[in-house]
Amino acid sequence: MKKIIRLLKIGQVNHSILHRLKKKLELSFRELSVSVDSLMDIIPLENSEYNIKRSQYNASKILNKINNYAQNERTFRILGIVDKDIFSNSLNFVFGLAMSPKKELTTTPVVALISITRLRENFYRRVDNNKLFESRILKEAIHELGHTFNLGHCNKFCVMQFSNSLADTDEKPSKFCDSCLEKLRSFFKKLE
Ligand SMILES: [Zn+2]
Ligand SMILES: [Zn+2]
Repeated sequence: MKKIIRLLKIGQVNHSILHRLKKKLELSFRELSVSVDSLMDIIPLENSEYNIKRSQYNASKILNKINNYAQNERTFRILGIVDKDIFSNSLNFVFGLAMSPKKELTTTPVVALISITRLRENFYRRVDNNKLFESRILKEAIHELGHTFNLGHCNKFCVMQFSNSLADTDEKPSKFCDSCLEKLRSFFKKLE
């Protein structure tokens, strides 16, 4: 299967945000020979995914929906992007969620999801900063995609550091550390 990451809109998402994310992801994954494109489809959000009490959408339900979609597409990786606040189980909110490959050498699609809502400064009643916003989106996207390539959380100065808060996201780099990069290289080598 061709190594390609496909970006998928979940509900309404600003097109230019997605376009710039695609360009940056292409650069980030270039050395691993993974390409990136955007799917034309928009998967609508559904009432059944919304939790009225929490005023948030259920990330796991959305992720499962993306997974169902991916099985029909027979694609390598799909990253869903949603512009709504999402939660997962006991966590008040999550920036993203990902599935791990069931087997290391699986060729079936593996999917991930990020929410860009809490990455905007104005969510915290601060003045918007587009550069910061886009760098956060890139970090969260690479992080969740890292999980789909079998990477766990990492304690080094690395994009795979766990983000418990926006400050954590701002502190971590948008790149993989040497040891995560090594794991990725061997992961991709086995796929060939
Ligand atoms: Zn993570
Ligand atoms: Zn690392």
